[in-house]
Amino acid sequence: MTNVSDLHDDVRQQHILFQLLQTLDNGLILLNSQYEVMLWNGFMENHSGIPIGAARGKSIFELFPNLPKIWLTKKIDSVFRLQIRAFCTWEEHPRLFEFKSTRPLSGHSLMMYQNVTMIPLLGLDSKVNQVCLQIYDVTEIATRKKALESANLSLQRLSRTDRLTGINNRGFWEENLEQEFLRCHRSHRPASLIMLDIDHFKHFNDTHGHSAGDEVLRAVSNQIKKSQRTTDTAGRYGGEEFAIILPDTDGQQALAVAERLKQQISKLQLEWQNQLLTITVSMGISEYNQSMSVYQEWIDHADAALYKAKACGRNLCVLADPFAQKQ
Ligand code: GH3
Ligand code: MG
Ligand code: MG
Repeated sequence: MTNVSDLHDDVRQQHILFQLLQTLDNGLILLNSQYEVMLWNGFMENHSGIPIGAARGKSIFELFPNLPKIWLTKKIDSVFRLQIRAFCTWEEHPRLFEFKSTRPLSGHSLMMYQNVTMIPLLGLDSKVNQVCLQIYDVTEIATRKKALESANLSLQRLSRTDRLTGINNRGFWEENLEQEFLRCHRSHRPASLIMLDIDHFKHFNDTHGHSAGDEVLRAVSNQIKKSQRTTDTAGRYGGEEFAIILPDTDGQQALAVAERLKQQISKLQLEWQNQLLTITVSMGISEYNQSMSVYQEWIDHADAALYKAKACGRNLCVLADPFAQKQ
């Protein structure tokens, strides 16, 4: 027979255990196989605003109508059936319960990010009659990780962008060219390259000043970005030189693209100190061919065509002769 002092000990222990549950910094929910709440702790009461007395016996889906019902019942059912734990991370679902964060970081979401663990609880009959949902507030970790990811993204964007014009810089553009070169080598599909150089730009700078020159570089870059197809990759190759990769485009098609772009650029009017300034450009175009062994040869061919365009008077587009000897 249990004596009175043993009974007192049990009650005392239960009292302590109950306080532990109440003060825990994680949410605890005890569910039966009908998804009805048997118990939840102070964390759940505080964040949901529903005291345990009002929640007990009610379906979790009735208490939280926004829960992803099909997905969650599948998870809980598997915990009952397989008698193993299941997890749900904030990366999978930012949160199961629409709670406000208790420790909001300035400038970040005030909603709580949560990790949730579902644990099968064995009864005295060794059967799983209840599942315990543990809800962890991981707002700080999640917001830090998101901030880091977005900082990495901006760094990545910055590292491949030309400061003055906002177009791809030479390093990134050349990486793309190498990839396209290798792709052409494997696929035998056509691709072309355009090298574009502003005519008499030194004279333009000398006449109107370097700042006006910078504006021209921005305007040309914007026009290139506006005209290019989504599959094309344009970049600033050097001072006043730009370059465009055109996948799946043969030399004649690229020549037509270049002619159109040349026209568009010649129509640009830059307002500068009460004057309307215009410029022209010359372009060299080269179609990829299988005799090229490194991507730099492709650039050399386009450069040679550009040189011809300059020699023939500028404001011209010249297509490289595919049978020309290597320079
Ligand atoms: P060509 O028609 O033969 O190409 O003659 P060009 O004067 O354009 O060629 P050149 O190579 O002699 O001069 C290029 C000029 O581009 C010289 C340089 O001052 C200018 N330049 C290069 N980078 C920048 C830049 O970032 N801003 C400005 N404003 N000018 C630049
Ligand atoms: Mg030049
Ligand atoms: Mg030039």
